[in-house]
Amino acid sequence: YYQTFQAQPDALKNKVILVTGAGDGIGREAALSYAAHGATVILLGRTPAKLEAVYDEIEQAGGAQPAIIPLDMKGATEANYRDMAATIMDQFGRLDGLLHNASMLGILSPFQHIDLATWEDIMKINVTAQFMMTKALLPALLAAEKSSVIFTSSGVGRKGRAHWGPYAVSKFATEGMAQVLADEYENSNMRVNVINPGATRTSMRSRAYPGEDAMKLKTPAEIMPVYLYLMSDESSHLTGESLDAQNR
Ligand code: NDP
Repeated sequence: YYQTFQAQPDALKNKVILVTGAGDGIGREAALSYAAHGATVILLGRTPAKLEAVYDEIEQAGGAQPAIIPLDMKGATEANYRDMAATIMDQFGRLDGLLHNASMLGILSPFQHIDLATWEDIMKINVTAQFMMTKALLPALLAAEKSSVIFTSSGVGRKGRAHWGPYAVSKFATEGMAQVLADEYENSNMRVNVINPGATRTSMRSRAYPGEDAMKLKTPAEIMPVYLYLMSDESSHLTGESLDAQNR
């Protein structure tokens, strides 16, 4: 039912929500959508111009003033995440929501041809960066009255598929990290869940499937119900789940 969930206009009022990869694709849409439902969003991504465009769009729509954190997760260190967490604590005193959305696809190729550098970049951006960021932000997430952490998986994070190499492995790790955290914090104010977006019309999807007709795919806007459901208090009973944004 969450695939058709309709959020109240003020469902995220007074919530401070960080979205990674907020400059493009699904993350951009989630940031706009969270802001439209009353949240103050913190836009994290690696291309400042894209984040600024989302910032402007939110302001023009009358949303709460966002914050921007330009950060390339490929090079970021624990110290960067600690500084980021300190800034968020200074400014807001808590974090109500964290959407781990940014990730790297890499190149689809036979296992034999995966080069180590690509493998390591994908693990860094898709897994280690999420570990470092979540660890640094735990005090802020536990300071909120109710907080929601959402990880982003994929069909290949539940069943491996030929040629999806390190991306698929990283998504299995993502599912695992979410389960570990959900279990560890089961009796806290923080819940941890996973979304599998399903095939969605973004530049990552067209890199993975260059030949397909993108117009047949759902748009990021069409998969927002589950993103709003998991971020709002409507799902406050739910933790340790992995949900599909699309029914297909
Ligand atoms: P896009 O490639 O369209 O957007 C990804 C966003 O993440 C971009 O804004 C990108 O920044 C940012 N990003 C990438 N690398 C880094 C980095 N090193 N540091 C900071 N930010 C970074 O992807 P989608 O919107 O399609 O995907 C969003 C999530 O959904 C991903 O986790 C993906 O794996 C998952 N997913 C998507 C599916 C689909 O069909 N689209 C299907 C299944 C899962 P920049 O704009 O600067 O490149």
